[in-house]
Amino acid sequence: MGETELTLSAVPAKASKLKIRPARLTVLICVALIAVAISVGYLIGQRLAIRALDAAASHRLEVFRASFFSPVERFEYLPELMASHPAVFEALNHPDDLRSQAALNLILQNASTKAGAAAVYVMNRDGLTISASNWDSPESFYGKDFSYRPYFQKAREGKVGRFYGVGSVTGIPGYFLASAVRDGTTIIGVVAVKVDLDTLDQRWLAESDQIAVTDDSGIIFLSTNKEWKYRTTRPLSDDVLHRLRETRQYATMLKSPVRFTSDPLWSDPRVVRANEPDSGETRRYFMLSHSLPQADWTITSYSSMAQAEQTAAIAAFIAAGGTAFVLLLAMYVRLVRRRMKEKEAARAAADAAHAQLEAKHRELEALSQHLQTMAISDPLTGCYNRRYFTEIAEKMVSAAQRHDRCISVLMLDIDFFKKINDNYGHPAGDEMLKAVAAACQSVLRQPDFLVRFGGEEFVAILPDTDTTAALVAAERALQVVQALQVETGQHVLEATVSIGIAEYFEGESSLDKALARADSALYHAKRSGRNRCVAYRVGMDEDGDEPGIARTAH
Ligand code: GH3
Ligand code: MG
Ligand code: MG
Repeated sequence: MGETELTLSAVPAKASKLKIRPARLTVLICVALIAVAISVGYLIGQRLAIRALDAAASHRLEVFRASFFSPVERFEYLPELMASHPAVFEALNHPDDLRSQAALNLILQNASTKAGAAAVYVMNRDGLTISASNWDSPESFYGKDFSYRPYFQKAREGKVGRFYGVGSVTGIPGYFLASAVRDGTTIIGVVAVKVDLDTLDQRWLAESDQIAVTDDSGIIFLSTNKEWKYRTTRPLSDDVLHRLRETRQYATMLKSPVRFTSDPLWSDPRVVRANEPDSGETRRYFMLSHSLPQADWTITSYSSMAQAEQTAAIAAFIAAGGTAFVLLLAMYVRLVRRRMKEKEAARAAADAAHAQLEAKHRELEALSQHLQTMAISDPLTGCYNRRYFTEIAEKMVSAAQRHDRCISVLMLDIDFFKKINDNYGHPAGDEMLKAVAAACQSVLRQPDFLVRFGGEEFVAILPDTDTTAALVAAERALQVVQALQVETGQHVLEATVSIGIAEYFEGESSLDKALARADSALYHAKRSGRNRCVAYRVGMDEDGDEPGIARTAH
């Protein structure tokens, strides 16, 4: 049980260790992508390089093939031409006639010189040379047996003999051409021409490109690389070795093999590595072979891979650079996008904060407005309160003084209000107070002020209004209040008001005196029966029964 627990607890610990952070994962992916790009770029580079090498090598092979055969092709006619010469028949048909052989020697010498061949010679049907253009030279072929030479054997079979070999007498490499001499249908001998390939050989050695011609056994007998010459490119079988000995094709010139192995770095099998016999170095070549059908030979071009390796490396570099650039660009775009998103988010947050702030500001303004209103108004009726009255009164007085205008003051008091409270309750009284205030307000003008002065008493200040106009306004108030029907519970209440009217007198510093006069007028209104308007007249404040009071009664 304890073991099980240990094992289980070990698993999440391991899993957490294997966690790769996103940044590291991005780096890993980038590295992997660049590695893939290098491989793909390298492969593409290799393909392009191989294509270029293939085209160049094909062209080069064509040129070399032409340069190899054009010098020898012009001798093709010579063996056959000489094979039909009467002197050749004469000499072959009379082997013991030394004179006819000597005459043929001169003819052959002449023909050889004219054609520019190394030697022209005639062999009897057994391969013995009975006449030769080089009869007078110490390396004369005369009397030599060439029956072992393949060109003789081919011609003896009636075919055209072609052969490359090192001269067994001269030791000079050459190209041999041979044709049968026919007497009717019988082959009585063979005419052979040796073309000296020394000049061609020398020219080839001067070439910078590696070119090699191999025979049917894979032995290089012509090459631009002199170290490769007379080396075999593949293992020789016993039969071949025996044949080489028999024909003495390469005499003693044959050297150790030069090995070409395919290169694992390059997918193309034509890319080979050669162990250079001279330096022991390993060099890489692009190998392209064309067969030379005239003689079972193969001409092969070995192109240096230096340029191709450079091309592949450049392609890999470009691919890596390109990928890195694209990745960096993608990262940059991602970064810019992220920044933009962050900026947008910050802007949105700022906007939201700003909107919130504005809402708060509006709320505060409303609150402040409310507080301001509360500070200057009566909470029950919504009229201005007494505190505000003092402020307004001052302003109005100074304006009236400045512009020589008049001000009237109305003092309103609800009649028998106490009874409403007593009979219907205080809340009903409150409803009545609100209704009377609203009614009075409705008949006043816009510049007029209605103030709850205390209890059920209101004061209206009417700027630019004389007593006569004030009386009209008071009358309207009187009527609108009288018309009121205030519903409270099951009752419909009615009320009347008494109004005292006074005018501000010029020179007074405040409305206090006017207010006192209005109060006196109100007193008179009450005393004279209520529900009426009374305008102040001088002396009214002394005697409540002063006659001549302007009054209305309903
Ligand atoms: P008069 O015609 O002589 O003015 O008689 P009145 O009953 O109206 O006069 P009085 O001054 O005796 O009564 C005023 C009453 O108004 C007394 C008071 O309880 C009441 N009152 C004052 N303020 C309020 C208020 O805010 N609400 C209510 N419901 N009643 C108020
Ligand atoms: Mg009162
Ligand atoms: Mg009253």
